[in-house]
Amino acid sequence: MIKVAKFGGSSVANAEQFRKVKQIISSDPDRKFVVSSACGKESNEDHKVTDLLFLCEAHVRFGVSYEPIFEQIEAKYQRIKAELGLKTDLDSEFASIRKVMKRGMSTDYLVSRGEYLTSRLLAEYLDYDFADAAEVIAFRYDGEVDMDRTRQLIEERISEDRGLVIPGFYGALPNGVIRIMSRGGSDITGAIVSNVVNADVYENWTDVSGFLVADPRIVKNPIGIPCINYNELREMSYMGANVLHDDAIFPVKDKNIPINVRNTNDPSNPGTLIMADCSEKDRISPPHAITGITGRKDYTIITLVKSHASAEVGFLRKLLKVFENYHVSIEAVPSTVDTFSVIVASKEVEHCLYDIVGELKENLGPDDVRIEDHLALIAIVGRAMKDQPGMSGRLLSEFGDHQINIKVISQSSDELSIMVGVHNRDFEKAIHSIYERFITEEQEAK
Ligand code: ASP
Repeated sequence: MIKVAKFGGSSVANAEQFRKVKQIISSDPDRKFVVSSACGKESNEDHKVTDLLFLCEAHVRFGVSYEPIFEQIEAKYQRIKAELGLKTDLDSEFASIRKVMKRGMSTDYLVSRGEYLTSRLLAEYLDYDFADAAEVIAFRYDGEVDMDRTRQLIEERISEDRGLVIPGFYGALPNGVIRIMSRGGSDITGAIVSNVVNADVYENWTDVSGFLVADPRIVKNPIGIPCINYNELREMSYMGANVLHDDAIFPVKDKNIPINVRNTNDPSNPGTLIMADCSEKDRISPPHAITGITGRKDYTIITLVKSHASAEVGFLRKLLKVFENYHVSIEAVPSTVDTFSVIVASKEVEHCLYDIVGELKENLGPDDVRIEDHLALIAIVGRAMKDQPGMSGRLLSEFGDHQINIKVISQSSDELSIMVGVHNRDFEKAIHSIYERFITEEQEAK
């Protein structure tokens, strides 16, 4: 078995967290490859090293002294080193970063130092080899990762009897210049490494026990999702459930490598398995009808009424073109015979709503244009909803029983998710009641 274990920032925030990581790694010899984020926040008042490095870079750019912030970063690493009794020569590491900063450096170089330093210390502490991501994660000039080259470079660093720690979040262009990924990118590095070493599982260790059925700020102690497929995950994370970087799926999807999201602070919890297909797991333990409930507030519905519009060829295209002209992305377009509603995030149209309405009136000659704000969209996601007659009926009656007015509703034909639009003020109540009905009651019935 080959396991790649990626640890997020909170998992490596201080010496105590490093100890938990070591415990996890030494409890399973299959965890041969480790990918690490930069030290995250130790407490709510603390700052992520990556944020502090971005701040330093801004100070350098504006010619303001960066030393007070940089010293804070250095102190954090020195503390971890001292508490764990490590030998890594941090003085010379920091001296060489300072030298580059004085000379003038790229943002990417400076910001990548968080992952670099954290992984250096972690490698020594775990007694694993260290491979600088600048030497093994190969970007092409178009910004894409060159998987073949990366595979070759990582293979050269693998030794029979020792594990390997690789910093997340960055790599290098063919000319050696460091390039960082988007925020949270260590998740992507973990997925890339999993792909190139043909891992059996990609473990993503964080500070929550995987995905929960509902947001714990809304539902008290929601149950976890044991298994979720890629498509469900897309629906869930698009609508607000943020545990994993969106792009972390692609490198493992190709090879069908499951991702296991686990909690460094609760390692006995099995967490959530993300797989292309959960059917095998489902045979052993049948899933709830609903995999997850998620959603977001603050959408706007722009409704156009025009008699006989449905018969007008190209009407919808002209309608959508107006939104495209203003670079507004559209969430959904529910329609009836002669009304077409366009749902967009309110902040997308903050500055251009009245220009859009003006253009709609001019280009489409509607009988009426109506605008409604404060819409919340709720996505009820579940692979088990497919072919289950009565599912949407149960769902709608739940809303009715709680006096929640549904403003829009839509279901894709793959029956993977049902989207319901309600007033912002009903958002929490709706999520609560769906959870009660489809999770709590089902559990009680078991
Ligand atoms: N350290 C980077 C960030 O804070 C990348 C990561 O942690 O995945 O975004």
